Amino acid sequence: MSDLDDDTPIAEAAPRPRRSRQATVRWGSRVVTIGGDAPVRVQSMTNTDTTDAIGTAIQCKELAQAGSEMVRITVNTPEAAAAVPHIREQLDRMGIDVPLIGDFHYNGHRLLTDFPAMAEALSKYRINPGNVGKGDKHDRQFAQMVEAALKHGKPVRIGVNWGSLDQELLAELMDANAGRAEPWSAKAVMYQALVQSATGSARLATQLGMDPGQVIISCKVSGVQDLIAVYRALAARCDHPLHLGLTEAGMATKGTVASATAIGVLLQEGIGDTIRVSLTPQPGEARTQEVVVALEILQALGLRTFNPSVTACPGCGRTTSTVFQELAKQIDDHLRAMMPVWKSRYPGVENLKVAVMGCIVNGPGESKHADIGISLPGTGEAPAAPVFIDGEKALTLRGEGIVTEFHRIVEQYIDRRYGAAAAPAGGA
Ligand code: SF4
Repeated sequence: MSDLDDDTPIAEAAPRPRRSRQATVRWGSRVVTIGGDAPVRVQSMTNTDTTDAIGTAIQCKELAQAGSEMVRITVNTPEAAAAVPHIREQLDRMGIDVPLIGDFHYNGHRLLTDFPAMAEALSKYRINPGNVGKGDKHDRQFAQMVEAALKHGKPVRIGVNWGSLDQELLAELMDANAGRAEPWSAKAVMYQALVQSATGSARLATQLGMDPGQVIISCKVSGVQDLIAVYRALAARCDHPLHLGLTEAGMATKGTVASATAIGVLLQEGIGDTIRVSLTPQPGEARTQEVVVALEILQALGLRTFNPSVTACPGCGRTTSTVFQELAKQIDDHLRAMMPVWKSRYPGVENLKVAVMGCIVNGPGESKHADIGISLPGTGEAPAAPVFIDGEKALTLRGEGIVTEFHRIVEQYIDRRYGAAAAPAGGA
């Protein structure tokens, strides 16, 4: 039998299980687990001046409300370090218990020692082993940061970045490579330096007394294939929880696509326990866009569900009107806007699937796959829009009020299926 005639069942695709240890990040009664069997977590980072405690607290709140489960802030000067407890207080006052992560470079050892209130207000410390000092200072200053983590009971992330790779380690590996009978490529040596910097620093942290599960690792690069190569090696060589993300992913479409591709491939392979999408905001764009993209990546992979999904066709020559595009956008915007309220009122509503389709070719079929779907009339079709509920054609809408009427039908459906009068499991 040829492959063309193979009739064995085709297996469903799903992300492979992860195999990392588990870290615990806390603030007050809020506990965020990372790794092991915990959900893949979403992180973000502020771009405010940390000395602006109010502005930074407001952005942390926005990021947390958008879905970021931990927020990283820059701690680069004594003034920034002094502001951290105030940022924490502001957030607590606003009822935002999102854990804060301190991002340290060059002087973290001093700041964590000199500002104990800052060290306490943070829930995790990011240490870049390429920026903790050179020569004999390196291990001493690294140890000071780890000792602060131990003293305050905080996990750490060993965050290697190829833009600030430990140059002494890289030079050492380059020299060793030159002595090989068959030298590796420069890229292979770079990968090795990234991975070795991370795993070597993690080993040092555990030798200093850190629980290996409380040592999270990241090795960020800006190329998709480079990130995949490095994280495959990291996952094969250690079981520390891994934080994933392309560094300097770029702006808008490029940054979104590159991040989604790299993170998606790795998560599908069971690699990665937290993610961050490092988008450069476009002028006027909200910082929260990086969180929106991160949530979409996890939801697209079927790893987590945050918002109802709206399936919409791209449109083609069969439909020359933009009604279905507008309807799809309005429905999507409306569902997202209502989610903060609906989350508590309608448990399980995030699993809702809505379809908004442009014509009869795929419209009825796709609408039947959704919980509720509408197939709008294409060019030349009768001006009628059949609505499908739970796979069955329920009614047909006509006339000017199709959009408003469909909104109403969706809301009624949500109330019936996920409201207080619905079945205990929310019908999901
Ligand atoms: S459903 Fe119709 S309008 Fe939409 S892409 Fe398919 S053929 Fe084109």
